[in-house]
Amino acid sequence: ASSGEKNKSLKNKDEQYVWHGMKPYSPEATMVVEKAKGAWVTDEDGNRFLDAMAGLWCVNIGYGREELAQAAYEQLKELAYFPLTQSHPPAIQLAEKLNEMLGDEYVIFFSNSGSEANETAFKIARQYHQQRGEHGRYKIISRYRGYHGNSMGALSATGQAQRKYKYEPLATGFLHVPPPDSYRGVDKIDAPKELLQSVKTIDDTMTWELSETIAAVIMEPIITGGGILIPPDNYMQGVKEVCEKHGALLIVDEVICGFGRTGEAFGFMNYGVKPDIITMAKGITSAYLPLSATAVKREIYEAFKGSDQYEYFRHVNTFGGSPAACALALKNLEIMESEGLYNRSKTMGTYLLKELKEELKGHPYVGDIRGKGLLVGIELVSDQISKVPLDIQLVNQVIARCKEKGVIIGKNGATVAGHNNVLTLSPPLMIPKEDLNLLISVLTEALQTIR
Ligand code: PMP
Repeated sequence: ASSGEKNKSLKNKDEQYVWHGMKPYSPEATMVVEKAKGAWVTDEDGNRFLDAMAGLWCVNIGYGREELAQAAYEQLKELAYFPLTQSHPPAIQLAEKLNEMLGDEYVIFFSNSGSEANETAFKIARQYHQQRGEHGRYKIISRYRGYHGNSMGALSATGQAQRKYKYEPLATGFLHVPPPDSYRGVDKIDAPKELLQSVKTIDDTMTWELSETIAAVIMEPIITGGGILIPPDNYMQGVKEVCEKHGALLIVDEVICGFGRTGEAFGFMNYGVKPDIITMAKGITSAYLPLSATAVKREIYEAFKGSDQYEYFRHVNTFGGSPAACALALKNLEIMESEGLYNRSKTMGTYLLKELKEELKGHPYVGDIRGKGLLVGIELVSDQISKVPLDIQLVNQVIARCKEKGVIIGKNGATVAGHNNVLTLSPPLMIPKEDLNLLISVLTEALQTIR
């Protein structure tokens, strides 16, 4: 069969057999990707695309690294599986490595996905308070527009109603507060901590709900899927202080921000805060294999000790921390460090942001350009005064134009329920400068087509 026929049949079979989330049901809209190398993916027709989203913000090291495949292969031969109700060397080594990176004493619980890592964090937070005799602490506070996963608990913490309302009732005990959004007037980026309305709201919420009912706050260092909302520098510090005041734990969701995305090993490191619990996934293996982790301060773990067998942390994950995924993660982290990719994210991100600001200056629909490291958002609005999100057809037109020109970018935001008017860029951290320049020129040209 010609490659054309083969491809038609692949797409038809895809439509027949594969259910994709978040996508219209049409073979035309489906991209069947066969292989990838560096920052480039190749579809079934042999077309190449610069992947400026690194998959779903996850292939931090870039595609096609043989050493990662090799690490998994060697480990699969040695020990393919043993449950982490017991232990095995790759899990121990990776937990030790994460400790070294986190710069404090954390105990690590492994799972397979970001959603599971967050579910684990919620259960640990709730049981932790129980272990200490504080039986009334169950409420978990998160921010509107934040995304924390697809499972019922993680979705309950998610602050995007349009992803939730068809699946209700969700879990009880989840509350939401507005995030800082300096572009739309909620807390200036350089406001002093004492004046941050978004911190005060959390403080007030805990007071009104009664401190003794609050278990934890969960937040991303920078809201990603909700539109790359860069907080004021002292926002996270403010939230941590409020948590301490009310006896709640701070859970930081590093699923996207972790492993170099924001120019530091972890996003929270930009803000000088030590979280109580840290969840991570995606970049831990650069998405080569599924793996996630919930890192818990040793003091919290200690509260679980000494309990009788019915009081242990009652949570098992069959595949979590599989030997091959842990071995691969270790190799991934080793290479990202030896190639200086965290710092590269910072310098290339600064360059990308500066160039975009220059190129897009005066564009009537570009309301705001913001980012940290290789995590950048371009908020499109219908006019600069009202800041009404740009018509979604026009947003889609820009994305389609980029794709035509061989560049994949994303759209996120949830600025208004269901309205994703923020173009997002999250390329592999190894992206060569000439590819960044290609991204800038293609995106600039695509935005000119809607002027
Ligand atoms: N938290 C954040 C911040 C995420 O972006 C995501 C996924 N995009 C998740 C959690 C859930 O991760 P997963 O899809 O691996 O369950």
